[in-house]
Amino acid sequence: MRRGAGRFPRLNRAAACNRCAMADLTTIAEHVAVNQSAFREANERIEQKAAQFAEVDLLPFICECARRDCTEITRLSLEEYEMIRSDGRRFFVVPGHETCEVSGEVVATVVDRRPMFSILEKVGEAGHVARELDPRRDG
Ligand SMILES: [Zn+2]
Repeated sequence: MRRGAGRFPRLNRAAACNRCAMADLTTIAEHVAVNQSAFREANERIEQKAAQFAEVDLLPFICECARRDCTEITRLSLEEYEMIRSDGRRFFVVPGHETCEVSGEVVATVVDRRPMFSILEKVGEAGHVARELDPRRDG
């Protein structure tokens, strides 16, 4: 049996196709984790660029919430960003974007709320997928 099968509802494939190209994922939890990991990879590139401008205190990063169409920007210090990235299950979102349930399934918990952002931690299957997709996992 495939890992995690049956523990999360299956995706509505038609709905998934409308939103993104990841319709082959089996669970909503996986779907959300992959979406958010795409933002994480974009933010990793922002950080790499920003490292060239060390005098900047707060850097703009893209909200890593579950909404595929979210393009909101928040600002974190490099230290805050590194603190969140040090755990592959953690994501940050702008305040108000703390989606912890998808289709009735708990996929994340809020671990910290700050004025500029909240930190979410993936749980269960979503946490597992998020860690697998962590671009820093092997290094
Ligand atoms: Zn968002």
